[in-house]
Amino acid sequence: MDLYEYQARSLYPKYGIPTTDAVVVGSVEEAVDAAIKLGPGPTVIKAQVTVGGRGKAGGVRVAPDAGAARVAAEAIMGMTIKGHTVRRLMVARAVDIAAEYYASLVLDRANRGYLALVSAQGGIDIETLAAERRDALVRAEIDPLAGLDAAKANALVASAHFAPAVAGQVAEVLVKLWDLMRGEDATLVEVNPLALTGDGRLMALDAKITLDDNAAFRHPGHGEFADTEDMGVLEAKAKAAGLGYVKLDGQVGVIGNGAGLVMATLDVVAGAGEKHGGVRPANFLDIGGGASAEVMADGLGIILGDPQVRSVLVNVFGGITACDEVARGIVVAVGLLGPAADKPIVVRLDGNAVDAGRAILAEADLPQVEMASAMDDAADLAAQLASV
Ligand code: GDP
Ligand code: MN
Repeated sequence: MDLYEYQARSLYPKYGIPTTDAVVVGSVEEAVDAAIKLGPGPTVIKAQVTVGGRGKAGGVRVAPDAGAARVAAEAIMGMTIKGHTVRRLMVARAVDIAAEYYASLVLDRANRGYLALVSAQGGIDIETLAAERRDALVRAEIDPLAGLDAAKANALVASAHFAPAVAGQVAEVLVKLWDLMRGEDATLVEVNPLALTGDGRLMALDAKITLDDNAAFRHPGHGEFADTEDMGVLEAKAKAAGLGYVKLDGQVGVIGNGAGLVMATLDVVAGAGEKHGGVRPANFLDIGGGASAEVMADGLGIILGDPQVRSVLVNVFGGITACDEVARGIVVAVGLLGPAADKPIVVRLDGNAVDAGRAILAEADLPQVEMASAMDDAADLAAQLASV
């Protein structure tokens, strides 16, 4: 899960990472109030979207007073940055910046570790920095068991040639960022700029954090970060039902049990779709292991709720999940959804209780349901039905 800057910053105090006072607001009026409440002096008005490059897009503006804060808030609220509409603003106390640095920690899956990246040249985006000032970006591998301690942080800061007056502070912040990374189970912690203020203090003026969703069970507090507002209606429904739903842009809805089977089904549908005018998967949903009839019914309702879906492929290999439960779920869902379920549904069942499952579907004799016994045939039929 990618956090908004205001959410990411809310994790800073717990780890002692210095930042500026800030308030998140949902309207221009609230932004003006917040600027007044922060007291005299300039504020910075920042678009809250989960993509970078806000500054370049005009989504970050320094306002010398409350009047300027209003003008800035009016300009930024509602603007679109890389396809994301700005609905919230952060109003922060602006500091006078003497130098901008870059620091990030990232999970490095390929090397089964973490990577620390620092640069004494910040402010520009990391892609530009990596491309144009490669020598200025210093990297170090972090052993996940050893972590990033003061000695390692000092060595890193030394090789990045920070001015001696700030090197110690930068190293300290790096260790704190590492503590945050481990403590919150993040896969990315990026601070750009890590700024040196005119009066010599180091402050994290931005925060880009990605949390590892697989570790969510360890962090009940992270639940509040879930962005149900930005989530589509169907994603939110799926989340509420405990199901993983992903929207794609084709025409065939895909339901399967288990991530491996679902991924394989997507490939087979895309392959089959090439013979049918370039039909592709519209979305997919994993009902997981041991799915009950209710789960199947919920899943089918979500998949059919996507208006782009022209046909559905249900591909279940019964292991813990019993095919008769899946079949019952399909019958229940079709009954509940009524006209909303009048799109062709191709069902391929195999494994545990397959005969009982097929018997239930044969008995129900639903006009929109077609059975297929092999995955390739099922995908071909679903793609063909979506192409007409
Ligand atoms: P990003 O462009 O999405 O990464 O947004 P940032 O939060 O990094 O802000 C972009 C730029 O705005 C920074 O690189 C700074 O130059 C500037 N900025 C942010 N906060 C302040 C501040 O408190 N004072 C001043 N003077 N500039 C700021
Ligand atoms: Mn930034």
